Amino acid sequence: MMSELAILGGTPVREREIPWVPTTGVEEINAVRDVMEDGHLSAFLANRGEGFLGGPRVREMEAAFCKRFKAKNAIAVNSATTALQIAVAACGIGPGDEVLVSPYTMVASASAILLNGAIPIFVDIDEYTYTMDPKQIEKWITPRTKAILTVNIFGLPSNLPKIKEIAKKHNLYVIEDNAQAPGATIDGMEAGTIADVGVFSLNYHKVIQCGEGGVLLTNDDKLAYRCQLVRNHGEIILDEEGDKETCIIGSNYRISELHAVIGTEQLKKLDNFLIKRRELAQQVTDGLKRFEGLQGVTVPKGYTHSYYVYPIQYDDEIWGISREQFASAMKAEGFELGEGYMKPIYLINMYKHRHLYNTGNTYPFDLVDTATQKYELGLCPVTEKMHFEKLLIADVCRLPYEPENVDEFLYAIEKVWKNRGLLTK
Ligand SMILES: *Cc1c(COP(=O)(O)O)cnc(C)c1O
Repeated sequence: MMSELAILGGTPVREREIPWVPTTGVEEINAVRDVMEDGHLSAFLANRGEGFLGGPRVREMEAAFCKRFKAKNAIAVNSATTALQIAVAACGIGPGDEVLVSPYTMVASASAILLNGAIPIFVDIDEYTYTMDPKQIEKWITPRTKAILTVNIFGLPSNLPKIKEIAKKHNLYVIEDNAQAPGATIDGMEAGTIADVGVFSLNYHKVIQCGEGGVLLTNDDKLAYRCQLVRNHGEIILDEEGDKETCIIGSNYRISELHAVIGTEQLKKLDNFLIKRRELAQQVTDGLKRFEGLQGVTVPKGYTHSYYVYPIQYDDEIWGISREQFASAMKAEGFELGEGYMKPIYLINMYKHRHLYNTGNTYPFDLVDTATQKYELGLCPVTEKMHFEKLLIADVCRLPYEPENVDEFLYAIEKVWKNRGLLTK
């Protein structure tokens, strides 16, 4: 009998992948037009006075974020990457300090630490939630440790209650990289507001977006002030009151009025986007239950998920074909899956060689006599197992996916399951 599998010449479930479509519409276009017509595309001034905190649209977006996420202070910036750098700086972290961070995330979570001269120390993840495993934290705490930077990966909040408890015991700051989990919660508390400071992304791949943008949220007024200083060349305004406590170097991490109005409009749409993403995700979770060897998302009790992407754990022993073969077969059926997410950060060359600059200089690693951690294979076994063997990342909860597309996705899995014998021959 001829195979049905598209990879072997059969007809695919979907001829073409579901296209990417913008989440912006007439509301964003009108908002941008208003800014264009009044001509103040940015209203920041790096001087003491009103303009230091940005123009009316930036402040409007900050107020909207405070309201939506029940936070006291919002600081809007030009990306989540710079927001993370600002967060680390605002916590008073500098050269030679250590910050605990998840290795399974976008590189920005760790480079924010290095760009402040501090050293990232990688804490392995939990094998069900993929977020930092609280049980692995304490063994990496040294006198140099200043903070824990935890990442709410794929849309699920980290175990923040536990992480905060450990941080309190050791007098550490907690920073939440919430770029992937806007609107997710733990017992009603908003992800991105549970730690000392939280970071949101508005880059165009994220759940809501304004092209490029980021927001910091904090309930700590002193941290908020320091974030505002770092955002806008703060040293300029500190000339007079610049005691040792407030000294801090800034840069230009400002966001334009144009981007801010798009961000404000997108934030209004967040809850509707999340309703749709969660419905699609529920359908995937329910649908995966009928397959052996594919483990869908488990959301811990009291948590909600934003489903930036949908991670699936694959068991090649049950399937009898490799993860790569499975992913190739699914791709041929019209559904591209990521094999793993991003390489564990400590295996990136720059880390392995402890070399940030082209000069032979090994700053900031040379600031400590004995390294707390060796960046090498084996450092975080769960992360490595998930990345190199188990995880498949599905992008099936994004818009414009419809329930019938999830049905097609599940049907494609079934087709591969039934015909997998043909792939082993
Ligand atoms: C996207 C992302 C960032 C960086 O966000 P930008 O706004 O693109 O700078 C940081 N951390 C995580 C976990 C992300 O997914």
